[in-house]
Amino acid sequence: MSRWLSLVLILFANWAHSADYVIAISVDALGSQYLQALIQADQLPHFKQLEMEAAYTLNARTDFDITVTLPNHTSMITSRPILGPVGHHWVKNTDPAADMTLHSNRGAYVAGVFDVAHDHSLRTGLWATKTKFSLFRISYDAGHGAPDMTGENNGPNKLDVVVYELASPALTRNFITTMSTQPCQASLIHFAEPDSAGHTSGWGNEAYNNALITIDTCLGQIMDLIATNSLLKGKTTLIVTADHGGKGRNHNDADEPLNYTIPFLVWGAGVTPGDLYDWNTGVRQNPGTNHPAYTDPLQPIRNSEVGNLMLSLLNLGPIPGSAINTRQDLRITRSTPADPVQAH
Ligand SMILES: [Zn+2]
Repeated sequence: MSRWLSLVLILFANWAHSADYVIAISVDALGSQYLQALIQADQLPHFKQLEMEAAYTLNARTDFDITVTLPNHTSMITSRPILGPVGHHWVKNTDPAADMTLHSNRGAYVAGVFDVAHDHSLRTGLWATKTKFSLFRISYDAGHGAPDMTGENNGPNKLDVVVYELASPALTRNFITTMSTQPCQASLIHFAEPDSAGHTSGWGNEAYNNALITIDTCLGQIMDLIATNSLLKGKTTLIVTADHGGKGRNHNDADEPLNYTIPFLVWGAGVTPGDLYDWNTGVRQNPGTNHPAYTDPLQPIRNSEVGNLMLSLLNLGPIPGSAINTRQDLRITRSTPADPVQAH
């Protein structure tokens, strides 16, 4: 009897840590300080709800070397640093040339979260509000994606859905329609407005704050979809993070705390609400106000965890060639199997 009970508990523990659907949202230029100020001013009801119900930290980090959009999103998708021997090496932040891919730029194939999900027969999607995200569409299309060597051959096209819209509300409507009809198991959404407003009017100014209020509405619609759709309800985990923050009218200085300090929130299936660093004692370390290099033995939680976290939530292994969260040990629950036994 107890053997059966153990088996049931083991199966339940495995199920409890997985999701059928994972949605990652990257809010362009969402610096933690600006987010928290607006939450405290009761301007962002859905972000506020996230903070009450999520495993999260406001003290996550961007890439160490570079705090701009396309390189950091490439890190989210590939779970690699930007530079160095294991980096993805995409440093440009403009629309890529028509013949350029992540792979031609690096001189070797650069796999991402969409490779692993797609090759395991899952449906994948990318929704973006900047044209430069064509980099990912081209890099993972039928002409440039790697052959599928995993199980059934699902072909080289790693992205089933790619959508560009200029404005986040229209993008959100498209996402909700797709998820209500032909849902993707692995989705990445990019919301651009806070970045544009920050460059035009300054981070933390009225236009920037209004852009965050717009994003909060979009976030609320997606949270509502997850909470009410019969297919998604109880089986979906949402990740919300950012590529960088900002200060003044730019975000280029990678040593600036307002640029490198970003939120990382995980909400929904499998989550124990609380401080993400508390759930990750021994495997990640809150960096305080510091800017830890990749050589530090205990790393902060970084936006580049996203790719491998998405896969671990889907019960899939890590991205080939990845270097961040490759052990998939970032935990979103209180359970702490890796905690050392306290010696007396
Ligand atoms: Zn920018």
